[in-house]
Amino acid sequence: PTLFGPQRKNSAGFDLTDLPTLAEIEAARAPFETAQWTAAPRLANGTGTGATKPVLNPATLAEIGTVTEADAATCAAAFDQAAIWDAPVATRAAALRRAADLYEENYGEFFALLAREAGKTLPDAVAELREAVDFLRYYANEAENAGDRAARGTWVCISPWNFPLAIFSGQIGAALAAGNAVIAKPAPQTPLIADKAVALLLQAGVPASALQLMPGGAETGAALTSSPRLAGVAFTGSTGTAQAIRRTMAENAAPGTPLIAETGGINAMIVDSTALPEAAVRDIVASAFRSAGQRCSALRVLYVQEDVAPRVTEMLKGAMEQLSLDNPWDLDSDVGPLIDGTAQEKIAAHVNDARLKGRLLHQTTAPAGGHFLAPAMIQVSGITAIEREIFGPVLHVATFRADQLDQVVTDINASGYGLTFGLHTRLQSRVESLSRAIHAGNIYVNRNQIGAVVGSQPFGGEGLSGTGPKAGGPNYLPRFAAPTAPNAGV
Ligand code: GLU
Repeated sequence: PTLFGPQRKNSAGFDLTDLPTLAEIEAARAPFETAQWTAAPRLANGTGTGATKPVLNPATLAEIGTVTEADAATCAAAFDQAAIWDAPVATRAAALRRAADLYEENYGEFFALLAREAGKTLPDAVAELREAVDFLRYYANEAENAGDRAARGTWVCISPWNFPLAIFSGQIGAALAAGNAVIAKPAPQTPLIADKAVALLLQAGVPASALQLMPGGAETGAALTSSPRLAGVAFTGSTGTAQAIRRTMAENAAPGTPLIAETGGINAMIVDSTALPEAAVRDIVASAFRSAGQRCSALRVLYVQEDVAPRVTEMLKGAMEQLSLDNPWDLDSDVGPLIDGTAQEKIAAHVNDARLKGRLLHQTTAPAGGHFLAPAMIQVSGITAIEREIFGPVLHVATFRADQLDQVVTDINASGYGLTFGLHTRLQSRVESLSRAIHAGNIYVNRNQIGAVVGSQPFGGEGLSGTGPKAGGPNYLPRFAAPTAPNAGV
């Protein structure tokens, strides 16, 4: 198999413009419309202990199952029972590929879980399942191409609720492909999807001692990351939590124990006066509001050149009104809810603050019940006016004159983050100069700035946005192998 050659294929997904396909999806999802799920710590030798809590649907607030969150004793037992996956790389790769096939076969249940536990619209659920499957197959291929090499030991993988299947599976897939043992802690909001994924990975042949699931929140996370027995941590979440994990590891783990962190961003897009307004508006709306803005890649600050700004903002208002904000179980929902009440309150407070200051340019309306927040557009002087990442459907808009472009670039870089950057222009010279000048892991030109594709667009940032290596790219897997092994360390 080759990585980038014609034989590498991404998951086909589903064509949602095809009515028979939609009917097929609805039928596959239907048995899970009222299902209740449970998740509990999965130790190699049985079930762990901890407090049991309800899991709620963020769109309806209805209970969809329960989770038992791993207590400290269970986390310690997971390290006792962990064993590296001592099988030939071909065996490991075959099991991960089998798991990818099982994921695809179980799409009905995954789409139901993604809608009911994570608030994902159908297009987002389709994209997420594809990405999860792509990660498993990609790292299986990568590991096989690299050949047998030494594992590091037990990895703690801590994943976010915003990609509860894709990022969860990507971290685990890479660590397992390299032969490590994994202790996985999904986000407290989305343990049920994680449990289903682990069940399929085990069914595909991953040994139970190589993959243990520890659902839980901050306490479970602290119990795991403070262990001196860990060989590495893969984390996706907030910058603050990544810094806390690094401190904990500095005190407890062996020096040089890797932390791979993918964190936040205050991502910008520049639209200059040569851009095609219709195309720019389409891509701004997708970048800022798709997934209710709950992507670390999402657009937060739009810089639009002064002479086209009135036209672009008017078009944006119209486009925002077209978004259907609805329960993601409904096929026509464009924007789902925020993940929980805490997120909803925090972001609503940010929008209200802008309203009071007379800076709210537009906000649509949200349905009652559920953690919905209507997409909003706020006027700002620039990126420096935004103190922290606003993880929701809020677009900040600033204008600039041609002679201010250098300052805009300086300000964007000065945010300290560097995840995604978008550019709409028809000047090739500007594409070249800004791609060099802006410090960001992923730069997108004349398109939206979300939805990096495994194997084609390795994803990750610099500075406050993460440590690298980029997920879904050739440098990721080697970080999970022992540095002393003959073939490691690309
Ligand atoms: N990889 C995702 C994208 O490009 C974002 C990942 C995240 O939000 O953590 O949209």
